[in-house]
Amino acid sequence: MTKTRALVLFSGGQDSTVCLAWALARFDQVETVGFDYGQRHAAELAARPRLLAAMRTIRSEWRSRLEEDHLIPLAAPRAIGGSALTQSMAIAMGRDGLPNTFVPGRNLMFLTAAAALGYRREIADLVGGMCETDFSGYPDCRHDTIQATAKALGLGLARDVRIHTPLMFIDKAATWKLAGEIGGEALVSLIVEESVTCYEGDRTHRHDWGYGCGICPACDLRARGFEKYRDTLSAKNRDDL
Ligand code: ZN
Repeated sequence: MTKTRALVLFSGGQDSTVCLAWALARFDQVETVGFDYGQRHAAELAARPRLLAAMRTIRSEWRSRLEEDHLIPLAAPRAIGGSALTQSMAIAMGRDGLPNTFVPGRNLMFLTAAAALGYRREIADLVGGMCETDFSGYPDCRHDTIQATAKALGLGLARDVRIHTPLMFIDKAATWKLAGEIGGEALVSLIVEESVTCYEGDRTHRHDWGYGCGICPACDLRARGFEKYRDTLSAKNRDDL
């Protein structure tokens, strides 16, 4: 039987780590791709190899399933500028109603590059951590955008392109819960210790939910999700007693 294969858009953040676990639980062979798009902080990219090495130890079958990692440079977002993620500027709300952490077209570029890589690797299934529930209304994270992009890429490559977004309709607490369901406490601990969510790339301040400045919107979302997840767990444990 032909082996099923997936390519995971893997940034080194919490969401993409959960997506990688999701793919490893479903596909026979999983490759990963990350993008160096001139992000101000290298912490996420630096976390990727540590996370990849550790993912191989979470479940015995993941060791053989997790295959090649690819890192692709994408210079366009930084050259276009205007985002707090690629330039040194304070995080603020923009006139368009989106925070200036929005990098216009970022996911569209990522998906295009990932689909092109998938074409070369003969992988039709892409997996990404886009989510329309919790984030700041980024239009390139929405379900309709992603599925329209899959259609456009499929037409443009004359191949099937399927984009799986397991986190699309769940909140951050449910993302932590999903990590626990797929990889147990070992995966939850790995995400706490090694994944990077913070917009400031802070690796010096350690909290229950991991490292981060604790102030930026990404830290706030991660912290609140973790708290809700832990509250739900302890309520469940009380009920089970
Ligand atoms: Zn932060």
